[in-house]
Amino acid sequence: MDSESAARRPIYVGTRTFLGRRDLVVSLYTRKCQFQCSYCALPSRSASGDVSEADLSAQIDGVFDEYAPRLDGFQQFSFGNEGSALDRQRFHRASLHHLLERAADMTALEVLSVETRPEYARLEELQDVRARTRAPVVDVTIGFETQDDHLRQVVLRKNITRRLLEDRVRVLGDLGMRLTSYVMVKPAPGMTDEEGTREAIATMEYLASLCGQHGVDLVVYLTPMYVAQGSHLERTTSPGEWVPPTIQSIFDVAVAGWRMGLPVYCGLWSEELADEAHDFRGRDGYDPALRKALVRFNVTGDASHLTPFLPAGAGR
Ligand code: SF4
Repeated sequence: MDSESAARRPIYVGTRTFLGRRDLVVSLYTRKCQFQCSYCALPSRSASGDVSEADLSAQIDGVFDEYAPRLDGFQQFSFGNEGSALDRQRFHRASLHHLLERAADMTALEVLSVETRPEYARLEELQDVRARTRAPVVDVTIGFETQDDHLRQVVLRKNITRRLLEDRVRVLGDLGMRLTSYVMVKPAPGMTDEEGTREAIATMEYLASLCGQHGVDLVVYLTPMYVAQGSHLERTTSPGEWVPPTIQSIFDVAVAGWRMGLPVYCGLWSEELADEAHDFRGRDGYDPALRKALVRFNVTGDASHLTPFLPAGAGR
């Protein structure tokens, strides 16, 4: 595809059921993210130069025209680019407004979810979004990933301080908005499965406590770490140095989140950026039944799909 036609198509458009809500998910094609998180190969699918306002708005129109007959069937609309949909340098303001105008046709919308880095989730930007949607819940989705400062800042190169996140959660509290945070399961090379599980649980505890202080509803989106092809992590770790988490670890973290009273969604796909050998499917003892149970839990948020897999005697 030439760059001109690429500029008029989103990177991804799909539907899913997210914790009981039908969700239209769109990732728009914009200039690539300027951050360089070590594990991320996503910006490789974005443009190296600017995508014009006209082209971005054309992508938005393409999605809404295609889904026009079904728009009233969605209760959630999740959108972003590969980076931050509130970054004015990459996601033109007029196009954001256009997107919110078109989303007004989603008459059953309950949740409008915008994916961004915390830098861009400023009070004025969020007030602007709030003023342009009738969705009762505005959700801001952020990739905080791990509460461990060394892992987050040095290993993953996220460049997101706790202070920044804490400031933005306070803003969400002031505006009555919801936070979804990605939480990585086993965020670093060299970690054992037990360490990876413990770290993800510690991150959920930190986020739950922070959101609790500011009256912010929290959704946890678990991302089992995988080595994305083309990422810095793939180039700088040797085979065997890093082993993806087991499906059992992901299950254990999901159960821990449920026991904390948190809505938890498990990312069980590697966005076509890793093959089977490089994610949990390649681990010895991989149990597809456990993955199926987690998929049902994703769809419904109902933990009864998980309880049959708890060890006998474990609290339910
Ligand atoms: S994880 Fe997000 S912020 Fe980091 S490089 Fe990838 S797209 Fe950019």
